[in-house]
Amino acid sequence: MNRVSIEKVPSYDYEEVSAGLQRLLEPLGGIGAFVRPGERVLLKPNMLAGKPPEAAVTTHPALVREVIRLVQSAGGIPLVGDSPGIGTQRGVAKKSGIMAVVEECGAEFVEFARTTEVASKGLFKRFEVAAEYLEADRVINLPKLKTHEMMTLTCGVKNIFGILVGAAKPAWHMQAGFDRELFARALLDLYLVRPPDLTIVDAITSMEGDGPSSGEPRHTGLLLAGVNALSVDLIAAELAGIPKHLLFVEQEAVKQGLQGVDRDKIELCGVDPKSLAIQPFRLPPLSDVQFGLPGFIKNALRNQLTTRPEQIADKCILCGACVKACPPQVITIEGQKLKFDYRRCIRCFCCRELCPEKALTVRQGILLKVFGGKGK
Ligand code: SF4
Ligand code: SF4
Repeated sequence: MNRVSIEKVPSYDYEEVSAGLQRLLEPLGGIGAFVRPGERVLLKPNMLAGKPPEAAVTTHPALVREVIRLVQSAGGIPLVGDSPGIGTQRGVAKKSGIMAVVEECGAEFVEFARTTEVASKGLFKRFEVAAEYLEADRVINLPKLKTHEMMTLTCGVKNIFGILVGAAKPAWHMQAGFDRELFARALLDLYLVRPPDLTIVDAITSMEGDGPSSGEPRHTGLLLAGVNALSVDLIAAELAGIPKHLLFVEQEAVKQGLQGVDRDKIELCGVDPKSLAIQPFRLPPLSDVQFGLPGFIKNALRNQLTTRPEQIADKCILCGACVKACPPQVITIEGQKLKFDYRRCIRCFCCRELCPEKALTVRQGILLKVFGGKGK
């Protein structure tokens, strides 16, 4: 069984959040079940953009503050970091009020500055993610419950998208984003690279409507927590009244037989959701996952913003393994050359993974180079 704990927390008053967190984590074994003395514990809030806490775009600093305190009480060393969608990391941390609580509590603000290439067992074979995220002994995921105009919901799993640094985020929108299901697969693959140890959702004030950044704050007065972010998201979506057919990540997880999305195997603890009577959230009109750009601009941008496979001619023996392995079948052999249809290439890099001769390289688009998709 996957446990998801729900607690009522009416406001961001420090004492209420602190007491609510204690009650919330009790059924999961308390903070001691997740943090050992001396461990470096990365708190990963949602720091999408530099907005004040009352805009409900970012995780509220009061929750970040109280989780820092909890980690310290267990002897852990709290670090706080995220890579924003818009703006600099420090600028967003300052405007969202997160930097002030980091400094007040003597925690460390970690800039996601280095990237590491990691292999994935999913459809997408490689990701370049923040090394700081991988190096932490523990990760506590602190998403905000919000509607999302591309994926309907952003909560625990989508929050992990922040481990892609700088231009890598729009690049992934361009790589996988022309198909919502494909983008859901990319989000899942990325989440599974290193699932967080614990997810605590800020649903005291959530966001409905045109989320994740232009919706309206909605007071829901709740905190949710669980080990499996997929289970946490499923329950959060239920509370927000989001129909299952609009939960693209969860549907993909069901297809893959992943743990955590079988509703019958989720055990709820704490407050009974039936007693909450939350009115369903106003949902966004689902938009194109590539920001509604015209096709010709998308193609040009995709090539400039993404990485793509390329043949190393003197190593390639033209065995055809990559041609067979390519899910959308976009590779052909023409004479001595491999030809890629980059407009249809989903950048999964299965070809590179399966090449017996290491005859495929990864070339970066020019904008990706300029805006720092690659770590130092
Ligand atoms: S799998 Fe490798 S060696 Fe074989 S055709 Fe593709 S690039 Fe060439
Ligand atoms: S060419 Fe095919 S296998 Fe290679 S990255 Fe593109 S879609 Fe994936």
